[in-house]
Amino acid sequence: MAAGEAGRRPEDVILVAVSKTFAADAIRPVIAAGQRVFGENRVQEARAKWPELVAGTPDIALHLIGPLQSNKAGDAVALFDVIHSVDRDRIAGAIADEIGKQGRRPKLLVQVNTGAEPQKAGVLPEEADAFVARCREVHGLSIEGLMCIPPAGENPGPHFALLGEIRKRLGLPFLSMGMSGDFEKAVAFGATHVRVGSAIFGHRPPAAG
Ligand SMILES: *Cc1c(COP(=O)(O)O)cnc(C)c1O
Repeated sequence: MAAGEAGRRPEDVILVAVSKTFAADAIRPVIAAGQRVFGENRVQEARAKWPELVAGTPDIALHLIGPLQSNKAGDAVALFDVIHSVDRDRIAGAIADEIGKQGRRPKLLVQVNTGAEPQKAGVLPEEADAFVARCREVHGLSIEGLMCIPPAGENPGPHFALLGEIRKRLGLPFLSMGMSGDFEKAVAFGATHVRVGSAIFGHRPPAAG
């Protein structure tokens, strides 16, 4: 619906159902309803939950949307089809090593800290071009898009627009932006992936992030 209103084709926007903090029993009905793309923000949690859920439905795609530590890169490459949070040389190097070892090649997005918030992951907007180039040239990684999480309580529009400009400049296909509260706006700004949790699964306890 949001795609139609924004003059975008629905098949051009992928809904990533963010199932973090929800147990397998809450996820099964969503799989049964036909959803196939899911997002998790913690490697450990996904590893505990998903192998069993995927076993019955091999066409499920798992997206890592949370920060990645280099010591979890092996599990991340083994488990996820798309990683949205590449943002440091160490991570890029660890992912490249694991791709070499495992022969699995998840699609990779670079997270951009569009609000330059000190506590938030992601490269700064002015560092994005150089980092994407280093991923390619130093680590041999193919980067397919960008991801952002705009600052809470701010109008996300300028952040979505900024990410869209960087994507266009770099000629990348994917733009991961928009959550339960702002996915319609993100689609209007060109999102190819919206990450929607609470609007699908319901309220999460605040501490769980
Ligand atoms: C939790 C989370 C979401 C989903 O948030 P909702 O507001 O529940 O839709 C999207 N993106 C990231 C990176 C998240 O951690």
